Amino acid sequence: MTRKLFVTTALPYANAAFHIGHMMEYIQADIWVRFQRMQRDGDGLREVHFVGADDTHGTPIMIAAEKEGITPQEFVAKIAAGRAQYLDGFHIAFDNWYSTDSPENVELSQGIYRKLRDVGLIQTKVVPRFYDPVKGMFLADRNIKGECPVCHSKDQYGDNCEVCGAAYQPTELINPFSVFTNATPVLKDSEQYFFKLSDPRCFQFLKDWLNTPGRLQPEMVNKVSEWLGENGEKLADWDISRDAPYFGIPIPDAPGKFFYVWLDAPVGYLASLKNYFGKIGVDFDSFLRDPGTEQIHFIGKDIVSFHLLFWPAMLKFADHPVIDKLKVNVHGHLTVNNEKMSKSRGTGISPLRYLNLGMNPEWLRYYIAFKLNSKVEDLDFTGEDFVARVNSDLIGKYVNIASRCAGFIAKKFDGKLAAGLSGTAQAWIKRALVTPEGVERQANIAANFEAREYGKALREIMEIADITNQYVDENKPWILAKDDAKLAELHDVCTTALILFRQLSILLSPVLPGVAANVARFLNDDKFVWSDTDVASGVVAGAMLGRTIGAYDHLMKRVEPKMIEDLFEGPAQAAGAAAAPAVKAEKPAKAKAAAAAPAVTETGIEVLAPEISIDDFVKVDLRIAKIVNCEHVEGSDKLLRLTLDVGEGRHRNVFSGIKSMYQPEDLVGKLTVLVANLAPRKMKFGVSEGMVLAASAADEKANPGIYILNPWPGAEPGMRIR
Ligand SMILES: [Zn+2]
Repeated sequence: MTRKLFVTTALPYANAAFHIGHMMEYIQADIWVRFQRMQRDGDGLREVHFVGADDTHGTPIMIAAEKEGITPQEFVAKIAAGRAQYLDGFHIAFDNWYSTDSPENVELSQGIYRKLRDVGLIQTKVVPRFYDPVKGMFLADRNIKGECPVCHSKDQYGDNCEVCGAAYQPTELINPFSVFTNATPVLKDSEQYFFKLSDPRCFQFLKDWLNTPGRLQPEMVNKVSEWLGENGEKLADWDISRDAPYFGIPIPDAPGKFFYVWLDAPVGYLASLKNYFGKIGVDFDSFLRDPGTEQIHFIGKDIVSFHLLFWPAMLKFADHPVIDKLKVNVHGHLTVNNEKMSKSRGTGISPLRYLNLGMNPEWLRYYIAFKLNSKVEDLDFTGEDFVARVNSDLIGKYVNIASRCAGFIAKKFDGKLAAGLSGTAQAWIKRALVTPEGVERQANIAANFEAREYGKALREIMEIADITNQYVDENKPWILAKDDAKLAELHDVCTTALILFRQLSILLSPVLPGVAANVARFLNDDKFVWSDTDVASGVVAGAMLGRTIGAYDHLMKRVEPKMIEDLFEGPAQAAGAAAAPAVKAEKPAKAKAAAAAPAVTETGIEVLAPEISIDDFVKVDLRIAKIVNCEHVEGSDKLLRLTLDVGEGRHRNVFSGIKSMYQPEDLVGKLTVLVANLAPRKMKFGVSEGMVLAASAADEKANPGIYILNPWPGAEPGMRIR
């Protein structure tokens, strides 16, 4: 059966620019897509369609647009116009980028809804809904926060807990409050439309669906099985309606009611495909019905309940043909130095900043790929590790082969490779490309790309590079080139090294598409396809013998450690890195923008954190500290190094991102406030033993300042603040 692939990434909420977490997911999916596009199926290359879209509906966008005095459509269009610079910048090759606010999505979402209604899975109930008495409107789930009813984590949104992953109704939150006004919401009756997930049909279906081999990662099958319960008793009906005013798709035959954004968002995958097929003239329905079609979603672990409970149940009972073709790949989150990204700690990474610093997008693609596997695990970005990995693998191992050998072919042989190879050279090629057990490495590598075990694939590719470098080191073309009697040997060695370099380039091309295109041009190749790596067929060496190649141009520079320092946004200067959303996003995935501005109240200050008890407060040990020394940090344009006396009989070293506001001499001798029991944090320039408190505005554009605290006279180093 010929495979036909329909691949998607989670639809980003259109209230902010992309953050680095989006780029990680897109890179993961793009590598998989590019690998698939290199495969032959029958006479041609495999059919692969890769689409995305902006997720546009819901309260946060409606309110953000209102604030700017434009329509939600205009607001969304503005965000959408900013997408291409990121996607092109990181070589993400979507076939189509569309919007959930589209005629296709209205038609498809309403169609699915009507079918669910026809089979008795839609029910209306009059339910009390939260209402903000100060603002005079019904509150969307994400506009209410409170304590998770399951794990009791504080400060969780009204639909889904970011700590334990539980999904629930906002009415189940403990101590709820409105994020707009901090008012305690009141309950007001409203007729709502529910998808009856508690229906026994849903449980029976989901249980079988989850356990179909190859559909989900094993850990996801286990997790979602827990949510079902033994007999489906844990499945609750899902409220799919929202009251006007709401920016969304109208529910058919229900005036004043709109689909909750999470109903139409996944339908947006299909809407984008349909829109794309309209442009290229492919029949949407027959593609979806084709037995060879596979629909593959790449998503983050925080939106699993929407994709593994509601979405399959909707498709199934709307009798949609893609339900049997659906596979979902879940990934973990990107952390920086093993912490969640945080602007205030200076660990946020802006993708645009990365590009604007002139950093090569393929460095990041390689680094992320190297750290990815098929499991639902977080991936940690560490600056030093990034520099070491890129410089050692890509420059030291891979690019190095061509830069050491290509010049001799141009200078000594008119750009022409040898017409045949010595027995020794052939033996080295085999040693590099076939394991001692007789398995072709390209087959192992292909299996690992297919299974999304990119780290394993790249490690095996680097083994080929290691053997190739060993071959070059042993034969020393730079010595051979000095002896005219050894020209034939030089030709043999450089041709062999370039044959292996081409093999490496083809195998790396899903990860490094830009470099691979440059290599193909330099080697006079038309287009790299995976079958070119097939050792047994003889194409690997055969295709290159006697070939004339072009001039070698340097393929990639090293990462300079200074770039990493510049990449991390300091606490005082991250403003403007991303379009600031007016409120927190409605959905979990979208609430994690690395550089998102904090939610603000109507008076423009940051929304208060949820109430804590005195017991919570005393956990934080605040002390008066004397700044005994302060100096610039060489190579950092954000940090100052403070030497603090906290009365402990020793001094502490603390880095603080306040350089934009203070000169070292302004601070020496002054008293300030230190979080004294914060775990020490290893930074590029050393360990920071605590954190100096400072004030900053919610809107950093309006006031980018950062102001440290200074106690009244009489306070002494070591005194506790209580
Ligand atoms: Zn929880």
